[in-house]
Amino acid sequence: MDIFLYNTASRSKEIFEPLTPGHVGIYTCGPTVYNYAHIGNLRTFLFEDLLARMFLLNGYQTKWVMNITDVGHQTSDGDAGEDKMEKGAREQQLSVWDLAKKYEGAFLHDLERLGMRRPDVLPRATEHVAEMIDLNRRLEEKGYTYTTGEGLYFDTSKDPDYGKLANTNMSEQRQGLREDLVIDTGKRNAADFILWFSNKPNHIMKWKSPWGTGYPGWHIECSAMSMKYLGDTFDIHCGGNDHIPVHHTNEIAQSECATGHPFVRYWMHTAFLVLTSGRMSKSKGGFLTVQTLADSGYDPLAYRYLCLQAHYRSELTLAWEWDDDSHEKGHAESLDAARTALTRLYEKIARTTDEPLKGNEAYQVAFDEVLSALNDDLNVPKALATLHTYASPRLWKAFDPVLGLDIAARAIPPAEETAPPEINALLEARQAARKSKDFAQSDAIRGEIAALGWEVADTPQGATVKRRT
Ligand code: AMP
Ligand code: ZN
Repeated sequence: MDIFLYNTASRSKEIFEPLTPGHVGIYTCGPTVYNYAHIGNLRTFLFEDLLARMFLLNGYQTKWVMNITDVGHQTSDGDAGEDKMEKGAREQQLSVWDLAKKYEGAFLHDLERLGMRRPDVLPRATEHVAEMIDLNRRLEEKGYTYTTGEGLYFDTSKDPDYGKLANTNMSEQRQGLREDLVIDTGKRNAADFILWFSNKPNHIMKWKSPWGTGYPGWHIECSAMSMKYLGDTFDIHCGGNDHIPVHHTNEIAQSECATGHPFVRYWMHTAFLVLTSGRMSKSKGGFLTVQTLADSGYDPLAYRYLCLQAHYRSELTLAWEWDDDSHEKGHAESLDAARTALTRLYEKIARTTDEPLKGNEAYQVAFDEVLSALNDDLNVPKALATLHTYASPRLWKAFDPVLGLDIAARAIPPAEETAPPEINALLEARQAARKSKDFAQSDAIRGEIAALGWEVADTPQGATVKRRT
């Protein structure tokens, strides 16, 4: 069955054609490990998990690469500001290396709690500095760079295709980057961006390079790691849609100028999770993590289910309210509803003993209907609606490898309760009464058993009891 993906580069849905038949390579900009991932970040990572799972269900060999950013990501997302890692380390009084270790571990734990697969490759930026230097050197050799007192820059005026992904007018970009221009007066064009920082003597993490001792820019990290594991040209690159105008635009420019080949065939971007109270930020008490949800009594899978109900290209709004000023616990009606719906779903699947999709043909038709929704640019809301309509446990289970709702383990029929000894004793007494044909006594005992909440059934194998419903 064909797979259609919305490609940001063409602003349209396209049939997916893999570079290598039967294989798909996916790159995801991963977390910057200076803090916990917030549930907005995780919405994006959840989408990428669904994408990889959809390909697996379609029989593809999937290679999903997600980097771990442990150096070079400035607080501004551009070149200005401070390295998020170094700032985090100072504030939390940890070494940068311990900070990275702590939050990488926390991140992987969050993935697990959200029922996500672990990406196939999780390269750390600090372990790929040689590849970044090499890429920078190639750009320098081809004349795409210049140096200033701050470091090595990419000269965007040398790349006629610069900005093709965002398709925005460059004045917007200039506006956004004015801050950087003020900081480095040697910069030639507003959109130029740093490939290597060499003038940060107090930076803790630093490496020797042809442009002095320093550290890599954030954009070059993703180019170096994606191309190392997936090749100069690869199938799919994902991220949140905030990365379109700068980060991904710069990744394309430096990769294509260095290799002379197209970088990525399909660009996929997730819309944001927004709080009704505003942007996710620590200062305003709007920083929600998987742990916040768990502390507030929400199974992380309820959040997964909430995300599944919205299309990834639509903004998802969460009306989160804190229970008090300590900002430790809170609630949201949409999460309550998702939790209830998920619990009911498990119960319903567990209780349905009469499979509604009888016969292979009926099953196949239903299966294809759900699959075609998933293959249509990951229309998960439609797939869910179709699954609810068919209400077939078999079909739900067949799609759980994509949905990741842990149906096999959680939708289990309530165990047949075994009767306690006093009930069994009454049952024996009743059998004895029946044997001696004392039916009044046997009926009285049956009444006694019923009063205790159990029901006697006479079967050809003898009398049994089960819980009264
Ligand atoms: P960062 O750690 O800031 O690089 O973010 C990791 C990923 O989360 C990136 O793909 C971002 O685009 C994405 N992201 C950041 N904030 C949100 C949000 N509120 N909703 C959805 N995705 C987000
Ligand atoms: Zn990236």
